[in-house]
Amino acid sequence: MRSRTYSTEGLVIRQYPLGEADRIVTLLTRDLGKIRVVAKGVRRPKSKLGGQMELLSQVALTASVGRDLDVVNEAQTVNRHQNLSQRLDRLSHAIYLCELLDGFTTEHSSNYPAYRLALDTLSRMDDVANPWLLVRHFEMRLLDESGFNPELTQCVECGAMLEPQDHRFNVSAGGVSCPSCGFGEATAVVPVQLNAMKVLRLLQRERSFDRLDGVRISKAARYDVERLLTTHIRYILERELRSADFVRKVSQLAESPSGQAG
Ligand SMILES: [Zn+2]
Repeated sequence: MRSRTYSTEGLVIRQYPLGEADRIVTLLTRDLGKIRVVAKGVRRPKSKLGGQMELLSQVALTASVGRDLDVVNEAQTVNRHQNLSQRLDRLSHAIYLCELLDGFTTEHSSNYPAYRLALDTLSRMDDVANPWLLVRHFEMRLLDESGFNPELTQCVECGAMLEPQDHRFNVSAGGVSCPSCGFGEATAVVPVQLNAMKVLRLLQRERSFDRLDGVRISKAARYDVERLLTTHIRYILERELRSADFVRKVSQLAESPSGQAG
């Protein structure tokens, strides 16, 4: 039997209103996987919990087991990631991370690697030179931790090592097919040029982002890399990630006025 109260630490990855003053909050926790809890009265101006349970907040909390949903008793902020709220582009990337975490994790199934990855990525997000690449690295790591690493080294059909050349990614097979195997009945195929393949493999190889921030990537390769990862992720989650479009729009806004794109 579960005890009536428990303590954990987690990152708020989603929240939505419940009734007049409450909120249902989804957290990715250090030890319990994803949990959904009710934060009562949190939308009232004087609520003690209010400031604690915001999106992107890392909190230590105590909750009581409820009949349907558990209820938060107390919460203390560990890290609010407040700097991110000052910069819309970084914030939009962080929101996208939350949506991916929600999609790739399961309730009450411990996933410490995803938790560590989330905190590590958020801690870098504020001052990283290339947030775009940080997000791609996060995607690749999360795919790897979830058992969905795209196959980019060997042909998904025959197992032959792939030659260094332009390739095409077979979406339903989750990997690249060699030219002699082709694509048979594949319904979706994503072209990926040699330079983009190099970037993707680099992202796969480097478990830490430490050595990646300075890497220069052409606009064409960026396009291919993002398209492949987004398509692969969409196929896995079987749904559109609403915030992916938001991120794209914000990036376009950020790039257009100054013309300093790339
Ligand atoms: Zn093959």
